Amino acid sequence: MSPNAIKKKSVAVIGGGIGGVSAAWTLHRSGFDVRVFERANAIGGNARTFSWRLPKGVTAPAAVEGESETNRVETGIFVLAWPTNFYHTYNQLLDLLGVESEVMPIKYFVTHPSGTFAQDGVPDPELRLDDQFSRWQRLIAFVTKVNRLFTPSLRRLAHDSLYHISYLNPMNIVPLYRLARLFGISREFWERIFVGVHSATFITTKMKDIPAVLLPLLEGIVPLERPTAMSTWRRAPREVFDRLTAGFREHVHTDHRVTKVEPLPGGGYRVSDEKGRSYQADQVIFACNAKDALAALGNPSPLERMLLGNVEYVDDVDATFQRAVLHTDTSILPSEHRERILDDFNTYTDIGRDGHVECTFVLSSHLPITRGLGQPLLVTFNSRKPIDVAKIQGKISIPRCNHSLNLKNLAIVALMRLIQGRRGIWYCGGFTTPEGGHDLSLLSGMVVARAMGAHYPLDPTNQAAVHDFRMLEGLMLGRNTPLQAEVSIRGDIPYTAAGHAIH
Ligand SMILES: Cc1cc2nc3c(=O)[nH]c(=O)nc-3n(C[C@H](O)[C@H](O)[C@H](O)COP(=O)(O)OP(=O)(O)OC[C@H]3O[C@@H](n4cnc5c(N)ncnc54)[C@H](O)[C@@H]3O)c2cc1C
Repeated sequence: MSPNAIKKKSVAVIGGGIGGVSAAWTLHRSGFDVRVFERANAIGGNARTFSWRLPKGVTAPAAVEGESETNRVETGIFVLAWPTNFYHTYNQLLDLLGVESEVMPIKYFVTHPSGTFAQDGVPDPELRLDDQFSRWQRLIAFVTKVNRLFTPSLRRLAHDSLYHISYLNPMNIVPLYRLARLFGISREFWERIFVGVHSATFITTKMKDIPAVLLPLLEGIVPLERPTAMSTWRRAPREVFDRLTAGFREHVHTDHRVTKVEPLPGGGYRVSDEKGRSYQADQVIFACNAKDALAALGNPSPLERMLLGNVEYVDDVDATFQRAVLHTDTSILPSEHRERILDDFNTYTDIGRDGHVECTFVLSSHLPITRGLGQPLLVTFNSRKPIDVAKIQGKISIPRCNHSLNLKNLAIVALMRLIQGRRGIWYCGGFTTPEGGHDLSLLSGMVVARAMGAHYPLDPTNQAAVHDFRMLEGLMLGRNTPLQAEVSIRGDIPYTAAGHAIH
């Protein structure tokens, strides 16, 4: 069939986070006519970019290569880092787009009424938890052993992977907290150390239902006891989204909150937003949260209602990370550790006597673009300490930003295949994947785009990335399609016969 004979199918993508933009980019590369609808005034979703004001006379490098220096600095504010050795697809994407990243140290600092816990190897003499840490190590060794027993492919795998699931593994249904208690881990250790560090990982303080199966993976990414290293953008995440959408920018509609998706009598859909604007498309991808997707479907089937209506989001049970204040007021940091935190730590968590958790991302301590500015840049969630109003640069609410990691949501992920593609409606993004992570949402967009007929958009000889793609495809769709050598049908993005993009 000649490329010209292929009908350009139109696809409406609802949600401009990495999941939706990845689907749109993959489809666009294969000749589909895509439109992205995003509720916010910029695409990026949780990986949003914020423009900070700098004091007079201070200039910063541009957030996007080629733009000029400004007296503002653009940074990511929520999604800030990724584990390089696990994010095979994301790393490859950045290489393809020419977006620079660099590795930075990751360290957590926790204060609570019984002392401090800092991941820089400086112990707090008040904190007597040594035997707890050795119990924690025994617990990790135990879960690792069980996981390997039930997932033999883990033993054969030559690279780290986030995408390994064995339905038969009992660790899938054992809550980590319960198992930890059986291993003699105290409630205090869980509430002060585990929650102190990992609330920022899971975007919630309610983590008792997290399945134990995840523990080795978690330790491989964010070890509890010691600092780790992760990649971050050399500039700001906006650069990635700008480049992904460069080929169809006029079809990216921000400030469009989609409220209705109605089937048309002759086939296809009418997609309407809350301001009454409407567009037509042959197929639709929901890349937003499950609740908005369900609300937009005028007449959902009982299965769609059951699956989409039951996805649990972190803020359904815990509002700690629902609101953030973007500011420069360092007085919220404990005076005796202030300089240490500002210099060296990425995340500061303060747990009050009443269990209140206040969490601050210290962007200026580590993001490359902030280097040398001498300006503290802080994002505080659930703030209780007063923040000087003159030092507040923004307030952001992020409802339904992350789904909860629990058995119910994992079951929904596995059952979503029953509604994927039915009547031309598809789903990707966070809640269709087993964990909350940028690589997972990115890959989910590619999985759905490929199921709709697009080519695999990256190098099909990259074994680690292809392996991850296959694992997520199997989980999302219950099948794998062969990734044979593919030739792009678009003239503007040529491929070799082996499927590599030519730059
Ligand atoms: C505070 C926080 C920190 C995180 N840190 C990291 C990190 O450091 N590293 C990492 O890998 N992952 C991190 N994550 C997870 C990461 O955000 C996700 O894995 C990924 O970015 C989610 O992408 P997504 O496209 O699935 O969803 P989102 O980014 O949530 O995008 C969904 C988009 O849909 C839009 N939308 C919703 N409803 C509608 C509608 N009706 N019409 C139109 N648009 C709509 C939303 O505005 C949003 O832009 C973090 C998450 C949070 C909340």
